[in-house]
Amino acid sequence: MSDCLFCKIRDGLIPAKIVHRDEHCLAFQDINPQAPTHVLVIPNKHIPTVNDITPEDTSMVGHLFIAAAKIARERGFADTGYRVAMNTHADAGQTVFHIHLHVLGGRPLGWPPG
Ligand code: 5GP
Ligand code: ZN
Repeated sequence: MSDCLFCKIRDGLIPAKIVHRDEHCLAFQDINPQAPTHVLVIPNKHIPTVNDITPEDTSMVGHLFIAAAKIARERGFADTGYRVAMNTHADAGQTVFHIHLHVLGGRPLGWPPG
């Protein structure tokens, strides 16, 4: 998608603080962090929302969680706790329509979220 912000970050056209990259996904720091660690894990494949994930994507989407857990281990909060979240459409506050896992950690996180 040529006008997708996260495709542009994936392609290096817009700078971001990259924390992980592999054949399936890219992880980078959120520009407006809501916790000491706030990383976004995106698939390399452009998928607009959770509703657009297909059975063919099953393994790749699972891989996003593996990457999230790796980041949590590296940051030292894998065992103390963290959150992964994927917002979908307006009522959940989705603003970028290329799916991304928010990985939030490094402080106690309230529940339920807003
Ligand atoms: P959403 O609201 O779609 O779940 O999350 C989008 C996230 O992308 C927000 O947390 C927002 O701060 C982040 N974001 C928006 N624009 C940029 C950007 O240009 N660079 C980075 N690194 N993050 C961004
Ligand atoms: Zn995209």
